Amino acid sequence: MAKVIFLIVDGMADDRIPQLNNHTPLSYADKPNLSRLLLHSELLYPSVLGKLAPESDSGVMADLGYDPRKYSTGRGWFECTGVGLKPEEGDISLRVNIGEVRDKKLISVRTYLSQEELKELEKDINEKVSIPYSFEFKAGVGYRAGLVIRHKGKKFSPYISNNEPGYKVRFYGRHKLSFALDSHSNRIEKIKPFKKEAVETANVLNDFIEKASDVLVHSQVYSKRKKRNEPLPNFLFLRDGAVEAPKMFDINRKYGARWAAVVGMPLEQGIAKAAGMHVYDVSEREDVSEDLEEKARAVIDALKRFDAVYIHVKQTDAVSHLGKFVEKYQIIEKIDGILIGKLLEVLDIEEGDTFVMTCDHATSSLLKRHINSNIPVLVSNKKFGGISEFSEEACRSHHEKRVKHATEIMPLVMKLWQTGN
Ligand SMILES: [Zn+2]
Repeated sequence: MAKVIFLIVDGMADDRIPQLNNHTPLSYADKPNLSRLLLHSELLYPSVLGKLAPESDSGVMADLGYDPRKYSTGRGWFECTGVGLKPEEGDISLRVNIGEVRDKKLISVRTYLSQEELKELEKDINEKVSIPYSFEFKAGVGYRAGLVIRHKGKKFSPYISNNEPGYKVRFYGRHKLSFALDSHSNRIEKIKPFKKEAVETANVLNDFIEKASDVLVHSQVYSKRKKRNEPLPNFLFLRDGAVEAPKMFDINRKYGARWAAVVGMPLEQGIAKAAGMHVYDVSEREDVSEDLEEKARAVIDALKRFDAVYIHVKQTDAVSHLGKFVEKYQIIEKIDGILIGKLLEVLDIEEGDTFVMTCDHATSSLLKRHINSNIPVLVSNKKFGGISEFSEEACRSHHEKRVKHATEIMPLVMKLWQTGN
């Protein structure tokens, strides 16, 4: 049976960087293993959300064949199911950032904590915050968490703003996405209802935020960090509240291929679960080489039991937000050396296997934010002739013109798989 590898390198595409001789990190990186795949490859250069700069949830959904404007009920659903919470229809699920506020002014929306500290705060909040609803708060990675508040008969409403100032909500009917703002004020605002039906929802969440802040400043983690003069966890930023499961079709049934996902972050795990994929529980490791080695091992195992595997590598986006383009091209070189190197031992393009490499959106290391440019896509399959390079520029000038939107990548790939079997 032919196999499919679908590799999403988060925020891989970038601007040309003067310090890299006007190359992008992708074109600058030395990629000997990827070069071997170019003998049978085609390039695509689709748009993800037109003029809007996509967030990871929109980008990943689109890459996997789901138009985010038709399927997303709010990122909070994926974040919560990704950390293992089980929201039900009418409950509200949110993505939480633990951050720091001083004199009602924003210091940071991200207080990076150790996993032990995050777990301790999870326990404090679950035990000590008292609101008239039952809820579950669950730690994610770093400064991230998921929050589900259970409804009592009357369902919660999704028509609320975020209190995380960097993200603005947009609605498409009942569908909901949020977008990062280029600049924002550092004033702390409450969650606001957009409709009358959402007044109670906003009140409950504002009450929760206030009580949780009080628990945080009285926590052991807080006082220990204060003594050490470290960034403080004293405020919760909530965003992307969802009250229902996204009605995504089952990817296995749609194309007849059995899918697995090797992804480490809660968001991507949540999306993969909602698509019906079997999710391998790999941790997201800070050490890039260890992370890639663990993922490569999981993929090789998955290929024995599944037809197709979605792999997600996160670190390229994280370094782009910090402007670290040297680290970015070095991570791409490690992806080539460690991950693709191992995959080439088990993939056989000549025998009908398909390899896809793309990203969920472009992240500019110069601007340190996501940008709206089209995404480079490499599709390797024996059906295709050779190309000379995989880069943003190569995709821009030599792409297959029929594919205009990222949502069209998956149908094309699955057609290759179906005809290859
Ligand atoms: Zn992303």
